[in-house]
Amino acid sequence: MTRRISILGATGSVGTATLDLVRRAEPDAFELIALTANRNVDALAAIAREFKPRIAVIGDERQGGTLSKALEGTGIETASGPTALIEAASRPVDWTMAAIVGSAGLEPTAAALQDGAAVALANKECLVCAGEYFIDLAARRGATILPVDSEHNAIFQSIYPGHDRFIRRITLTASGGPFRDWPRERMGSATRSDALAHPVWSMGDKISIDSATLMNKGLEVIEACRLFGLPPRQVDVVIHRQSVIHGLVEYVDGSVLAQLGSPDMRIPIASALSWPERMETPAERLDLARIGQLDFEPPDEARFPALRIARDALEAGEGATAALNAANEVAVEAFLQGQVGFLDIAGLVSDCLGSLEGSAALPQRFGGLDEALDVDSRARTWTRDALSTVNSKHA
Ligand code: NDP
Repeated sequence: MTRRISILGATGSVGTATLDLVRRAEPDAFELIALTANRNVDALAAIAREFKPRIAVIGDERQGGTLSKALEGTGIETASGPTALIEAASRPVDWTMAAIVGSAGLEPTAAALQDGAAVALANKECLVCAGEYFIDLAARRGATILPVDSEHNAIFQSIYPGHDRFIRRITLTASGGPFRDWPRERMGSATRSDALAHPVWSMGDKISIDSATLMNKGLEVIEACRLFGLPPRQVDVVIHRQSVIHGLVEYVDGSVLAQLGSPDMRIPIASALSWPERMETPAERLDLARIGQLDFEPPDEARFPALRIARDALEAGEGATAALNAANEVAVEAFLQGQVGFLDIAGLVSDCLGSLEGSAALPQRFGGLDEALDVDSRARTWTRDALSTVNSKHA
């Protein structure tokens, strides 16, 4: 049976990997409803021509004319702007890939969940900024959230149906990023290309920088607590350089179930795309004899303070995690633009949380998405203002 699917963030790393699987599937396995991007109009037009969705949407309104011109005569509807993104995301489908990066993905993902279908959640920011709202929305609308982050997908696959009440703890693995062997002093002068050179995974720029600071693992701890309904003390992180084991679930009897696979995002994406069945992928097969050895070590929070900052925000509540996410987005973008140093990223996030929590209590939980977006906007403003005064004081 043909499944109707939409891909939000179709031009990105996760979006492209999803389209690669669609391309390899039987010709009538999927019907594309919506493909979206933000600014990359040429890439969006090219994939729209290939996959023939009903609608292609570009977030940047200034690119709307270029998109409609590029798709003239194809019969594909085009639209532009944030409202059009939300409208396209709300069109009825069987499955949506939510792969817009950052808090820009919150409203389109919420629109997709409203429809009650399956949503493959790559955008971890939804659960970091407003976890309770999204989990509750999915439950009310009868929608299924399928985790795409490789660690969360691994945990999801390792929870034997009905056994979630027997979980003692879960463990998320981390490759350690490009600076796993760098002393902190050296990180102070890390360049953009040093930080983007991830040793294992090939990903978009934002998440690559988050992997270098280990903020990504902090965001994932928050995501895991909210997705699996676990308290922070039951979610561990371990550095595992080979990225062969992605996540582990320990049960009360001492059994540990884990999911293994080569570090290729097409594996967790395929697991979500074919759920509750399985599909073929071209991912490299695991050859444990060739790998020979798997290493594990605890994360070093002195060299990578972002992990502790994220855990502290998780203890403080949703207001703090939404602010953490927004401040981090602004700080990472500033680092990518060469405006601040690598160590300033975690420093700015920590200072933003301190300032916002000092001026007024951030809410423990949000009543709705508007409240989360309000905290997001306040944290962005604070961090942008602080950028002008940063002079590597955190180095
Ligand atoms: P990329 O930066 O590669 O792609 C992001 C996508 O979102 C692009 O299609 C981009 O469009 C679009 N986009 C960016 N900003 C906006 C906006 N303001 N409004 C609408 N669309 C926007 O990101 P990734 O694919 O790496 O990551 C996507 C999400 O998945 C993130 O939340 C990330 O944390 C998560 N994730 C990613 C993994 C990976 O392996 N890459 C692994 C696990 C999770 P355009 O191309 O036009 O800019």
